[in-house]
Amino acid sequence: MDVSRRGFLKIAGGTLAAGGIGFRPSLAHAEPLKIQYGKETTTICPYCSVGCSIIVTTRKGKVINTEGDPDSPINRGSLCTKGGSIYQLSANENRLGKPLYRAPYATEWKEVDWEWTLERIAENIKKSRDKSFRATNDKGEVVNRTEGIASVGSAAIDNEECFVHQKFLRGLGLVYIEHQARI
Ligand code: SF4
Repeated sequence: MDVSRRGFLKIAGGTLAAGGIGFRPSLAHAEPLKIQYGKETTTICPYCSVGCSIIVTTRKGKVINTEGDPDSPINRGSLCTKGGSIYQLSANENRLGKPLYRAPYATEWKEVDWEWTLERIAENIKKSRDKSFRATNDKGEVVNRTEGIASVGSAAIDNEECFVHQKFLRGLGLVYIEHQARI
């Protein structure tokens, strides 16, 4: 029988729960598993380029657990402390839930909604691009670029998001595209 590492653990757990290796069911007291009835989905840790696989368990649309994926040939179930604490990306009362805005010369931040924020970002991108766009360089060669905007990417976005992000930036004509891991 071809059984994955995770499958093996599940079977072993089931055997234990059924008293299959000598437990007396009347004495055994099993706490309900935190992940019971949850939906498991695999994802890749966004923090570094090792690319460890993580099992995310959700229930009613909420993340209830994260753990290393034993079936992954990359990390075989293990995670470093950073990846091991990834649950806090989802459940963390210290994370901001809304954008904050500090107007020019203001000293205080104020809470703003997403619609206003995205409009404002789009307006500023358009303004900066219009002001700094160059169709040709000093030699008259076609460059179609803007040097007035830069992007610092995030290790917390996945391959597909990176692809779309890169297309978007190149489409605007950005040449200063960086990633935090190189800073
Ligand atoms: S768990 Fe640690 S080593 Fe693995 S990808 Fe995440 S940050 Fe990198």
